[in-house]
Amino acid sequence: MLSQNIEGFSTSSLNQMADALQSWYSPYRWSHPWRVLWGQTRSPWCVWVSEVMLQQTVIAAVIPKYIAFMKRFPSAQDFAEANEETIRPYVSGLGYYRRFALLHKGALQVAQEGYPQSRAMWQDVAGVGPYTSAALASITLGEAVGVVDGNVERVLARIFNIQEIVATPQWKSIFFSFMSRLTKLGDPGDLNQSVMELGQTICRISSPHCSECPISNFCLANKNQTQSQCPKPKAPKEFLKLSLLATLHTDGDKVFLIKRSEDSLLLKGTIGFPIKEIQKKPLRSQHFVKHNITKYKITATFTHSLEAPQGEGIWVKRKNMESFLLSSLDQKIWRLAQKNIFAEH
Ligand code: SF4
Repeated sequence: MLSQNIEGFSTSSLNQMADALQSWYSPYRWSHPWRVLWGQTRSPWCVWVSEVMLQQTVIAAVIPKYIAFMKRFPSAQDFAEANEETIRPYVSGLGYYRRFALLHKGALQVAQEGYPQSRAMWQDVAGVGPYTSAALASITLGEAVGVVDGNVERVLARIFNIQEIVATPQWKSIFFSFMSRLTKLGDPGDLNQSVMELGQTICRISSPHCSECPISNFCLANKNQTQSQCPKPKAPKEFLKLSLLATLHTDGDKVFLIKRSEDSLLLKGTIGFPIKEIQKKPLRSQHFVKHNITKYKITATFTHSLEAPQGEGIWVKRKNMESFLLSSLDQKIWRLAQKNIFAEH
């Protein structure tokens, strides 16, 4: 029934909605560095990098990293030619580092074959999934394809007064069709971004600013004052607890690091300390850090060893450690170790 309201939303109402969204969005269009760069260069690279960085990382943390990254790698070609060592400092601290390994693969593909000319072609590029391909195609190619993220889901749930959990494949598909219809009625990239921006700034999870909303006249939740019920919140994420022990082998001013395999449970492919799972949680008296990765709630402690490590790895000078440790977990362990192992030296 609810889905029929969405599917049956008239084209004239949709047109009015598109106009209202575009007029409202215009002043925001150039506010983020990736939008400024896209406006100046029209290079899909500017948008692509921002989409990758914004996956699971908040805008405020992305902005300085994005600026430095684009200065060093202004094109896909520049990034494709760089080696891991050169790239590392520019992505360190952003977490979920595998996405940059995939971006590198994708950049190599684009450097050889040129930029894709449709959403379907973008999906053949390494690391580019359904969401990113839709965002890239709508923004850089003007393809009328909807983008559905959590913000879009919330805005549409409220417009249509949907008091259900909407982060489901069924609702995503209904919202995708709606957004794809909407994007045919103006600039597809601007229309997608306007709904996302509306969700970020005005139609927020709690206390939406309905009096400032450009599409409030279409909104059933506003009419019925049911904003707080739309959509129904998802069940809280369940975490698995994991206790880890990192071993810091040192030799003078050098520390031993390993390259984790692509099959490792956590932090696949990153360089870091040898880490193993332990059964007991670190004692309160021990030094430890807390960190969440995907479904894991991690408590990690470390041990210091002067013995020769087993297995392959590299010895890195203490002063160079920051540029080798990409994951936030390794960085937290390193900061803790510096305070506690090396403080007296
Ligand atoms: S009127 Fe309020 S609840 Fe409805 S879309 Fe706008 S901000 Fe969201």
